[in-house]
Amino acid sequence: MSRIVFMNDRLVPEAEARVSVFDHGLLYGDGVFEGMRSYSGRVFRMEAHLDRLWDSARAIALEIPMTKEAVAKAVDDTLAANKLPDGYVRLIVTRGAGTLGLDPNRTSHPQVIVIADMISLYPRELYDRGLRIVTAATQRSHPATLSPRIKSLNYLNNIMAKLEGLQAGCVEALMLNHKGEVAECTADNVFAVRKGVVLTPPPDAGILEGITRGAVMDLAHSAGIPCREATLTRHDLYTAEEVFITGTAAEVVPVVEIDGRKIGAGVPGPVTKRLAADFHTHVRGG
Ligand code: PMP
Repeated sequence: MSRIVFMNDRLVPEAEARVSVFDHGLLYGDGVFEGMRSYSGRVFRMEAHLDRLWDSARAIALEIPMTKEAVAKAVDDTLAANKLPDGYVRLIVTRGAGTLGLDPNRTSHPQVIVIADMISLYPRELYDRGLRIVTAATQRSHPATLSPRIKSLNYLNNIMAKLEGLQAGCVEALMLNHKGEVAECTADNVFAVRKGVVLTPPPDAGILEGITRGAVMDLAHSAGIPCREATLTRHDLYTAEEVFITGTAAEVVPVVEIDGRKIGAGVPGPVTKRLAADFHTHVRGG
């Protein structure tokens, strides 16, 4: 089915949604993006996604040529035009078309694009059985090279690690930071449950501060489950009672094996199941 796409100031049919081959988003990965999800017609934590988009843009000195209110309306309009009350939204801001050099000052007209579609990242049975993952040899970008806190169009670091995961027969891979500590997965944040405490690496471990991560931490607090940020090593994950990952597209997914080590009992654990259930209720406004 042909989609309707928002391009800069209007909705156009998919076939007309085109960017220039001189756009620095294409030439250099120069731009930022967000992935959001709508449940029953309402975008989950839209404000947090827009704040993160604006922060990413600020970090790369890219001025988004629209207000947050106008972008929020474009997101809602795109979902409505595609009749997707339960959909996935990809919001992209590129640097715009320029010359063949790197200089972002020699570009004009950043492109604001909203695509709405369905997403199903992992097969349903993985949510019931749990994921097997491996640690990638590719480390997460050093924060002094390209900060993982910026959700930029340059995802090659993650893609290199994803390739390693796929080569090992896994749909997700664990990434360590330059200090050998646990950072995150290629497109998801990671959590461990140790002695009943839910732990996740802090932003300075070199992670994207996931919106789902934040929601799950809030839900743990509401449920009276202790939850905090902590520096984690692979040993902490191998010896955890439970491990799970979170992301907008993935939601909450149990991890039952890492690098050939069974995690806990090797089946999704009670804390993961509780938080996944609370998350599903929460996103539907419960
Ligand atoms: N880390 C990375 C590298 C990501 O790309 C994402 C988004 N898919 C996440 C974590 C999870 O973030 P969120 O919960 O905001 O989707």
